[in-house]
Amino acid sequence: MSSLYIHIPFCKQACHYCDFHFSTSLKHKDQLVEAIGKELSMRKNELPGAVENIYFGGGTPSLLSESDLTSIFETIYAHYEVVEYPEITLEANPDDLDISYLQMLSGTKVNRLSIGVQSFFEEDLKLMNRAHNAGEAESSILLAKQFFDNISIDLIYGIPEMSVERWQANLSKALELGIPHISSYALTVEPNTALKQFIDKEIIPPVDDDLAKLHFDILVDTMQRHGFENYEFSNFGKPGYFSQNNTAYWTGKFYLGIGPSAHSFVSSTRSWNINNNSKYIKALEAGELPAEREELSRTDRYNEYIMTRLRTQWGVDLKVVETEFGLNYAAYLMDHIQAFQQQGLLKLEGDILKVTGDGKFLSDGIASELFMLNLK
Ligand code: SF4
Repeated sequence: MSSLYIHIPFCKQACHYCDFHFSTSLKHKDQLVEAIGKELSMRKNELPGAVENIYFGGGTPSLLSESDLTSIFETIYAHYEVVEYPEITLEANPDDLDISYLQMLSGTKVNRLSIGVQSFFEEDLKLMNRAHNAGEAESSILLAKQFFDNISIDLIYGIPEMSVERWQANLSKALELGIPHISSYALTVEPNTALKQFIDKEIIPPVDDDLAKLHFDILVDTMQRHGFENYEFSNFGKPGYFSQNNTAYWTGKFYLGIGPSAHSFVSSTRSWNINNNSKYIKALEAGELPAEREELSRTDRYNEYIMTRLRTQWGVDLKVVETEFGLNYAAYLMDHIQAFQQQGLLKLEGDILKVTGDGKFLSDGIASELFMLNLK
């Protein structure tokens, strides 16, 4: 089973913290949708097996019109084998979700919404320069629930000056609204973002890692108490509502990424498209794929396996390490986990290696300490 990811590189305005690829000019949207169709048809033979889930990410996919979506779906269904009941998610911003847009969406093949709420509080939304306000954050969910059952929202924690009370109030609001899936991320300060500049100029206070850790602990505790499983570091779902796209990604399934800046992983090849809309369109108009590729070595694949699996509730399977990568990798891993076990950050349950509650927030750092640097 495989996944299809489609990147829609347009946004109404730039959020201060964002370093994703997008343009705020919609001038070339039609050409871009056409180029996406071309890329989809050119790469139709790359995925082995049927497509199990389709994910429209961005950027802001809720800027797509009905005809944009129809034309993309027609191309997918003409060229790919798709399972009978695929999960089809569209990322949407609250300010796009009015009744007519939701009505239109519910008539397409989209059956899951991921709404970029980020916070229910005006001060947080202003600090991040989100296009929506606190009222729209809530009303968009209430409206969306009239059309969709499978809804996820994004929430950001660790925002400067976000008190513990405000973070708890955000979580309470999400729970009160009956959302079955939440993706939650710490605000990170990326280079070349407005947020970085504001912090450097002391216009905004710096991001506080201890506060982010405190918010994360509250998040995990609150969600677990309310019947959500923390199936991946940033993802919380009620049983039956885990995102298939996230699960496939974090468990190493193959995915094809279409659109500017989209990444793909098939067999042992990783590839990534150019992150420039005009160059992407031009290349596809000329019948070329604007992508770079790299073959992953056994060590790359081992490192990737450790990095992704340690973030999930399924953990690292030592038997898989042994059979897929070899005895020397398994021995290397066993040697390197001991210190973390003694510190209570990693635990072994049979053959499955997992982070403990204390290790969870540190899982990326721990994974990098378990990486192999030079064995081939
Ligand atoms: S809407 Fe999403 S992709 Fe667009 S600027 Fe904001 S965070 Fe970035």
